[in-house]
Amino acid sequence: MASTTAVQPGRIRILKKSSLRLPDSDQTAGPVVYWMFRDQRLRDNWALIHAVDLANRTNAPVAVVFNLFDQFLGAKARQLGFMLKGLRQLHRQIESLQIPFFLLQGDAEETIPEFLKECGALHLVTDFSPLREIRSCKEEVVKRTSVSLTVHEVDAHNVVPMWAASGKLEYSARTIRGKINKLLPEYLVEFPELEPPKKKWVGMMVDKVVVDWDSLIDKVVREGAEVPEVEWCVPGEDAGMEVLMGSREGFLTKRLRNYSTDRNNPVKPKALSGLSPYLHFGQISAQRCALEARKVRNTYPQAVDTFLEELIVRRELSDNFCYYQPQYDSLEGAWEWARKSLTDHASDKREHTYSLEQLEKGQTADPLWNASQLEMVYQGKMHGFMRMYWAKKILEWTKGPEEALSISIFLNNKYEIDGRDPSGYVGCMWSICGVHDQGWKERQVFGKIRYMNYAGCKRKFDVDSYISYVKSLVSVTKKKRKAEEQLTRDSIDHPKAN
Ligand SMILES: Cc1cc2nc3c(=O)[nH]c(=O)nc-3n(C[C@H](O)[C@H](O)[C@H](O)COP(=O)(O)OP(=O)(O)OC[C@H]3O[C@@H](n4cnc5c(N)ncnc54)[C@H](O)[C@@H]3O)c2cc1C
Repeated sequence: MASTTAVQPGRIRILKKSSLRLPDSDQTAGPVVYWMFRDQRLRDNWALIHAVDLANRTNAPVAVVFNLFDQFLGAKARQLGFMLKGLRQLHRQIESLQIPFFLLQGDAEETIPEFLKECGALHLVTDFSPLREIRSCKEEVVKRTSVSLTVHEVDAHNVVPMWAASGKLEYSARTIRGKINKLLPEYLVEFPELEPPKKKWVGMMVDKVVVDWDSLIDKVVREGAEVPEVEWCVPGEDAGMEVLMGSREGFLTKRLRNYSTDRNNPVKPKALSGLSPYLHFGQISAQRCALEARKVRNTYPQAVDTFLEELIVRRELSDNFCYYQPQYDSLEGAWEWARKSLTDHASDKREHTYSLEQLEKGQTADPLWNASQLEMVYQGKMHGFMRMYWAKKILEWTKGPEEALSISIFLNNKYEIDGRDPSGYVGCMWSICGVHDQGWKERQVFGKIRYMNYAGCKRKFDVDSYISYVKSLVSVTKKKRKAEEQLTRDSIDHPKAN
């Protein structure tokens, strides 16, 4: 194999080497398969670029497979609908590049090795996620594959590959920032164009390439109806690019100017980029967002620097935490000082305690908190500033830090369209367990964990406006849902009229 590659070698990890000792020129014919997991896009995707490059260098055909689990960390219609509609678009677009896309369903530990065996693949390429469920699934897949297969993992999600940025658990943004910034000249570079595959995929499993997306999406949305889809967030790569830099309401084109001043004001949600759903599902590349943001830095230096701090340093710090701290979602994963302090205060008397049901329904004595909870339930995306207040109040109102953490993660993953993300686990850990933060003045219940309260919010933004903004949002959504339900009932009662 030629030594030059389209992808920086530091972005690729070898998870398994083939035991075949053939010269590369003889390793022809066996296809390259890209098992797409976290980076569900065609454009700006290092894993796909690597898979196609590898195929072209070994004169082999290439395919993309995606495995849809029957259940994945409790995802419901809101998240699965968004994901599958994005994949439907990707399927259409990738076929025009002559790369077949296969949708497998069931346990990836079984479907992926079976697929690889059936098509006689010699190379498997996959993208990277630090989450334990994905890592252990990948380990099992690697174990179950043939000895002749090589497996490459490409970090297509982070601007600086997680393992290149740091080989250890970082203490805070302060300790990882310099390491990331030092590597940006190497990694924050323009993407090469995706080469067309030289060798065609012919004949193999062509029956599996046909996907009835509409029926599949209908089924998944029906089964996950407990948390319905949201209309405002259009799925897919094209929509993600529109949110980033569209001419009508794009973040960089129209909204960036106020990012550094208004991003902590929940009354002005449009000041935020709104990119997290696309970043979470990999429908947009963080590297593309950073490259485009840098182009307008001369005009808005402060806004761009603040955005890049969130997009690169904070987001990639979350991947670092989840990768190097196996207990990333439990009190055990907190720093020693925080664990001790929270444990010392676990039995402090709480002014209020609420059950999961009361919290889920937004039935507390705090109208600001209730509004944030309902924003998440009905809108599917709570404002970033409110997420901190929201999680900290759960610590104040539940029996202890373990319960607070598990409730906040449960609700976050259930309702947020960007849930089940390393930034979600770390957001809850930061708010409740002081991860990546420092110790503060000791107080009841919180111990040394940073405290937030209603009065502080009142000083920062117009609390009443936020509450009425959420109220009207809930009422509009409820009306729409009622009308839709009525329409469905009518079409069942009078099928001909429709
Ligand atoms: C309790 C809690 C729960 C959270 N849950 C999630 C979650 O489930 N999924 C999720 O993606 N983020 C989560 N965050 C982080 C952050 O609040 C969201 O990423 C952000 O609000 C998303 O909106 P945006 O894309 O419009 O943000 P912007 O401010 O426009 O930020 C741009 C991007 O930078 C990254 N970013 C911004 N803030 C943070 C942060 N604090 N930590 C890490 N990355 C950040 C995100 O990728 C975001 O999309 C959580 C934070 C807290 C405190």
